Amino acid sequence: MTERPPGARLRELPPVDRLLADPRLLEVAERHGRGVAVEAVRRALEVAREEIRAGFEPGDLADRARAEAHAILRPRLRRVINATGVIAHTNLGRAPLAAAALERVAEVAGGYSNLELDLEPGTRGSRQAHVAGHVRELTGAEAALVVNNNAAAVLLALAALAEGREVIVSRGELVEIGDGFRIPDVLARSGARLVEVGTTNRTRVADYERAITAETGVLLRVHQSNFRIVGFAEQPPLAELAMLAERCGLALVDDLGSGVLGELGDEPSARASLAAGAQLVCFSGDKLLGGPQAGIVAGRADLVERLRRHPLQRALRADKLTLAALEGTLALHRDPARARQEVPVLRMLAEPAGAVRARAERLAELTGGSVEQTVARVGGGALPLAELDSFACSLEEALATPLRLGEPPVVGVVRDGRLLLDCRTVADAELEEVAAAVAAARA
Ligand SMILES: *Cc1c(COP(=O)(O)O)cnc(C)c1O
Repeated sequence: MTERPPGARLRELPPVDRLLADPRLLEVAERHGRGVAVEAVRRALEVAREEIRAGFEPGDLADRARAEAHAILRPRLRRVINATGVIAHTNLGRAPLAAAALERVAEVAGGYSNLELDLEPGTRGSRQAHVAGHVRELTGAEAALVVNNNAAAVLLALAALAEGREVIVSRGELVEIGDGFRIPDVLARSGARLVEVGTTNRTRVADYERAITAETGVLLRVHQSNFRIVGFAEQPPLAELAMLAERCGLALVDDLGSGVLGELGDEPSARASLAAGAQLVCFSGDKLLGGPQAGIVAGRADLVERLRRHPLQRALRADKLTLAALEGTLALHRDPARARQEVPVLRMLAEPAGAVRARAERLAELTGGSVEQTVARVGGGALPLAELDSFACSLEEALATPLRLGEPPVVGVVRDGRLLLDCRTVADAELEEVAAAVAAARA
């Protein structure tokens, strides 16, 4: 506590300019610009005033201003170690990219690219051409288009195929996808009118059929990605909806959510959906595909072309970083065995529980924790009932906050008064880092 009254101490604080003349802040200004130095000094003085008013001595102001400069310059969007056991964790950025996909981003974005140049004739090309070939091969579709995310893909499909007309969807499929965003609200922005049929637990083909009028443009199926209705429940098989759509001259659009490319639990694959008669499928790039945030539309060429020509396509299209990462990811998927090894989401899904346990044991050894059996989840609104056997390193709960605020931040799960660091989502290469973070958090 200071001896003298706070008013006198406040008046003694140096003016901004005098602090800026301190060699330590001259160095900050030299390296990072005067703007950063000024902001840092102002922040340091602000904190000092608060401390003096509270009766404390603020200490060396130039040192504090230099620390503020570091805080200002430190990236806000940073790498985090995911020890939650949720593989495609939406709050943690969903899918980590494969090394091969990152290489594509660095190469394409670090310089100029043929984003919209067709190199052979030397004329204007389409950014959509770069990934369409992979999507066609991986799904059996005639054509494909990539936009910013899957919500945009569905929005564009409805805008292009049913603007001013009706879209029929089952009440059992009106999903909320997280953070309060509801599919029906997104769809309404397409300019199409939603017509809900059936009930929450049961919808039959006859329900769709009865709702079809001269105003109908699209039959929409939305995958119940992040929930399941069990018990007395029924949704029509896609093939039956496809026959109805065909008979009535309507488009059948299938919003798959995750869009797996191979076989995975009861997730519908894009290929199976198209083979069953969906004319267009929409799916995310950063859920089970394990790529960048993107929305992929695949299906009949004439319909994809209508989407491509719609004015919203220009507003929703993917940028070159996304396209580069997606092309790199899809190239790995062309060899399923390689994808399981190199696409992080698929690797974490497939890793045997024994290997996860070995990692948890190693981490427990390094940190003095204990090993606990856990259940990991797929996340990203996919396979909500799937429980993956997993193992965590269990530590004292008090470490949760300091670990989250550490560098790098480590995010675990607090359960029953313990902090669990689930090792299904922690890489072998991250173990030493986590152990160091635990030591720092205890210090
Ligand atoms: C996740 C999901 C979406 C939204 O996909 P984003 O890529 O996050 O925009 C839409 N529909 C379904 C069924 C989903 O599961």
